[in-house]
Amino acid sequence: MKLSELHNGDRARILSVGGYGAFRKRILEMGFVQGQVVEVIQAAPLRDPIYYRLMDYNVSLRRKEAGLITVELIDPGSSSEELPPLAHTFVSDKHNDAPTASAAPANDPVIARSLRVALIGNPNSGKTTLFNHASGAHERVGNYSGVTVEAKEAHFDHQGVRYELIDLPGTYSLSPYSPEELYIRDYLTNEETRPDVVIDVLDATNLERQLYLAVQVREMGIPMVVALNMWDEFEQKKNQLDVQQLSHLLGTPMVPTICRKGVGISELFDKVRQLIDEDLYADRRFLQIHYGTDLEQSIATLQTKLIEHATFPDHLSPRYLAVKLLEGDPHTQGFIKQQPKGDFLLTATAYEENRLRKNHSNEEDLENYIINQRYGFIAGALRETYRPNKRRIRTLTDRIDNLLIHPVWGYPIFLAFLFIMFEATFALGAFPMDWIEQGVDALGAWVYGMMAPGPLRDLLVTGVIGGVGGVLVFLPNILILYLFISIMEDTGYMARATFLMDKLMHHMGLHGKSFIPLIMGFG
Ligand code: GDP
Ligand code: MG
Repeated sequence: MKLSELHNGDRARILSVGGYGAFRKRILEMGFVQGQVVEVIQAAPLRDPIYYRLMDYNVSLRRKEAGLITVELIDPGSSSEELPPLAHTFVSDKHNDAPTASAAPANDPVIARSLRVALIGNPNSGKTTLFNHASGAHERVGNYSGVTVEAKEAHFDHQGVRYELIDLPGTYSLSPYSPEELYIRDYLTNEETRPDVVIDVLDATNLERQLYLAVQVREMGIPMVVALNMWDEFEQKKNQLDVQQLSHLLGTPMVPTICRKGVGISELFDKVRQLIDEDLYADRRFLQIHYGTDLEQSIATLQTKLIEHATFPDHLSPRYLAVKLLEGDPHTQGFIKQQPKGDFLLTATAYEENRLRKNHSNEEDLENYIINQRYGFIAGALRETYRPNKRRIRTLTDRIDNLLIHPVWGYPIFLAFLFIMFEATFALGAFPMDWIEQGVDALGAWVYGMMAPGPLRDLLVTGVIGGVGGVLVFLPNILILYLFISIMEDTGYMARATFLMDKLMHHMGLHGKSFIPLIMGFG
């Protein structure tokens, strides 16, 4: 059956994902891979889009998109396998006395050198919070308005090292299918912008999904430290993780952090320095996922050809390039095509692809297979190291969420919010508007009285004072409107409103998100 045919509360296992091109790859990379379990939470009031739960996070799909995913229903009675308890788990003994980054020792030795550190991670994992906390910057943590694809830089001195921090936009993957992803991949590999170390900030309450990006970076071979952020929520949920073992399996240091409180940031940067100075995990500069005998053979063939015939910076792994070529990655293909032996290498790739296709005749395509293997690697590593709390604690957020997108109450709440917003903007805004108007009039009258009649007086009174005043009058309204918009953003209501509006906006050929500029237009 199709995913879109399920009812609220149903759980199903994914059998296959249809569709093609960028959309399909995106869905796969979001974690809709074969074997994963999806739960239907709720459809929007107009029955579209639908909210699903997958890999410990919520995602909404349009009904049409969900129709491309074939699933089998899981009988609610059946229980999943029981895992043995973990040998050692991370014990947080220093939450209370951990030094925060901003309160770093004052007797820092002289700054002797600097390291470029780029922050990457899924949206909302806490990158900007870490960036602000460490550097004392005040970047916005908003998700919608004014967020452009760009890197923000600041620096932070800690234990004799200057860390040049770069806050990059949020991304789920490094496939170049969105401007963010393309930008980040370029940023990480380009000789001029390339960081010395990457910090992958991930939301520890959603490990499986968030580790996908970490695994990709590790395959590329960029030195990386992982911040297991939102550790407060992770512990609240009573989950367990063997941090040391997971670090070992991924070949990358991992540090639990609570960026909002500054906990763990010092340790995080200590690890960054150690990674470079002590060459931690030197034996495993590049993470190798085993892609199965058949594919491994093609990877090996291409890798040898790449080493022999292509030139690429040595911070890139030839294995990574080979995998990317087989994955049909347009960016890597473009890079290889520019090389003198480019055509030869692309022909070799096509040959290997054909060979693999023949052997996997009935199976899904290569791209799907590779993504599946990556998720398989992550699932395997987590099976060894992670014990989520069986009882899913229904948090307050869950309950509020259900109400905000409720089939009956969702729209009334949304309309009430809009009503309050516009009432406040215009009714409340009328008072300061009056004051400004009176002030401008008074100033105009005063200048009028002070000056001799003539063109200069007319210019000042009607032109400058009247003109600027005419615009200034609207300032209170705009401020109030923006205040409401930022409340919507900060509380996450914006995302729910987008979900509610998607179907309506879609009829006009727009995405649910476009209601935001529509509202701002009133301002
Ligand atoms: P970004 O999209 O990765 O830049 O994420 P932000 O820095 O904007 O953070 C997203 C949200 O997570 C904000 O509301 C933060 O206050 C919150 N947040 C950040 N770090 C933590 C943390 O350690 N624990 C908790 N509970 N919330 C956090
Ligand atoms: Mg951010």
